[in-house]
Amino acid sequence: MCKEVSAAGPNGYSVAVAVRILILSNNIVSPIWPKVIWGNNVPSKVMVFHWLAIKNSFPVKDVLARRCILPPSQSKLCVWCMVEIETIEHLLLHCKWSSSIWTDQFRWWSIRWIIPRYIVNFSFDWFYGMGFKASRFWKLIGPSTIWAIWSARNNVFFNCKFTCRSNVVRSIKLKAFLWETNLKFVHGLQAYVWEHNPFLLCQ
Ligand SMILES: [Zn+2]
Repeated sequence: MCKEVSAAGPNGYSVAVAVRILILSNNIVSPIWPKVIWGNNVPSKVMVFHWLAIKNSFPVKDVLARRCILPPSQSKLCVWCMVEIETIEHLLLHCKWSSSIWTDQFRWWSIRWIIPRYIVNFSFDWFYGMGFKASRFWKLIGPSTIWAIWSARNNVFFNCKFTCRSNVVRSIKLKAFLWETNLKFVHGLQAYVWEHNPFLLCQ
């Protein structure tokens, strides 16, 4: 039986409490997901975003249209390519704009990888797709990237502002590094090594 918990902690609602509810609920359909999603050193809001993406419940235009929330007059097309329908997979993984971001990440880590079709396969492969020493850092790059892509998309959708692709790539690297170091001050040399040869930090 599902344990009953409330989103309101002693200090009111928080994302961290919501994360705990999701962990305790029977929504976890596979024992691997707590490890893949909740085991990373990423902010709670990013964990929730990643989880909803896997559940195909994140409010991209396609999901909103199927729930009759998107007005019929509103385009369902992707904000970047304006050709394909904005599904979760297209937006986060396969749009040319997004895939160029991924290509940058792969080049950064000197790997070749064909991105899986579905976000669920992507998340699983990403988690298990790197050697032990590097995985501590690597596991942060995937969530950091999908979060950055979503944030950039929202900037277009709500503010009509296009974020420069190179700035997105840079913010992904910086965010992942800060998550790993728990947002503590880090030596400039470490940040330089991280950006230019992350494997040196994995030794
Ligand atoms: Zn697109």
